Amino acid sequence: MSNFNLDNLVRDNIRSLAPYASARSEYSGQDVIYLDANENSLCSLYNRYPDPLQQQLKTAIAAIKNVRKECIYLGNGSDEPIDLLIRSFCNPGRDNILVFPPTYGMYEVSAQINDVAVKKVNLTADFQLDLPAIMQAIDAQTKLIFICSPNNPTGNLIDAGSIQQLLEQFSGLVVLDEAYIDFNASYSFLQQLDTYPNLVILQTFSKAWGMAGLRLGMAFASPQIISVLNKVKAPYNINAAVQQLAAQMITGNTTVAETTQQLIAARTALSAALQALPSVKKVYPSDANFLLVQVDDANALHAYLKSKGIIVRNRSGMVLCDNCLRITIGTAGENRSLITALNAYTYA
Ligand code: PMP
Repeated sequence: MSNFNLDNLVRDNIRSLAPYASARSEYSGQDVIYLDANENSLCSLYNRYPDPLQQQLKTAIAAIKNVRKECIYLGNGSDEPIDLLIRSFCNPGRDNILVFPPTYGMYEVSAQINDVAVKKVNLTADFQLDLPAIMQAIDAQTKLIFICSPNNPTGNLIDAGSIQQLLEQFSGLVVLDEAYIDFNASYSFLQQLDTYPNLVILQTFSKAWGMAGLRLGMAFASPQIISVLNKVKAPYNINAAVQQLAAQMITGNTTVAETTQQLIAARTALSAALQALPSVKKVYPSDANFLLVQVDDANALHAYLKSKGIIVRNRSGMVLCDNCLRITIGTAGENRSLITALNAYTYA
């Protein structure tokens, strides 16, 4: 077991921080006259500050995720808790985080913004964790490890045994970014929060739930870790409209399971269609809502598709992603347009 000790891990200034006490965190009852927050009582609709801890929305999320409410943090997208974790646990100019390229870029950017060093251990050729190299890279100042599964941009799940091994051996926090897990939910670590006190799971409403525009992300962890995040966050970080809309989407008759299945079926079909093209060298297997595709000349193909009004992500610059494009699964019509354009390019 790791020597995990949350109290030692959190930054000294955060441990001793007296968080800002907002009006609505001091009192939040019903049927009272609110004259405490300098709101505008002459207006209605959105004149009141929102619930700082989003209790109603968390109740709805706790039910669908089968986790306790105290284990949930909600942020302005999951990008917010990425930054918050680094700010809460890493001393600027002293500590470091560990990331595994090619992976999601915000871990590194958030660390750099906070003047926190980034150590990198590339994934193996089959996009899995290089455990011996990782164990060697960890030092006394390594506070957070970011694992993305399914990984962006490669699309694959990270081996569960490797994740478990890191959870058991690393004495800092293991942040498991499951932004794309709804496309293969059986691999989620969400039900293992009680087993691993150093586990933080990130999920989002931006992908399978189709609410990227609302900006709603989730962090799941022990109540102790969640209370650190609550201490540091902006007082009213999720606005009232988002709290209402998301709770309605969750409890109402949503079609998430159906659209997720449609996207998975479309992914299979698109993968097959792409593999049939001579300009495509390889389509990597995916457990997400996108495909990583290796082509002859990614720059040329990217520019061609752009000229046809189809925008894909050129990931060639990333390690292990030579000549790779990342293509999001679209609607049936959008996927057809993509294949039509690629056929015209190949056989022109
Ligand atoms: N994690 C991963 C792996 C992502 O790909 C993204 C978005 N592309 C995010 C987190 C951030 O998502 P959001 O802030 O929309 O929740």
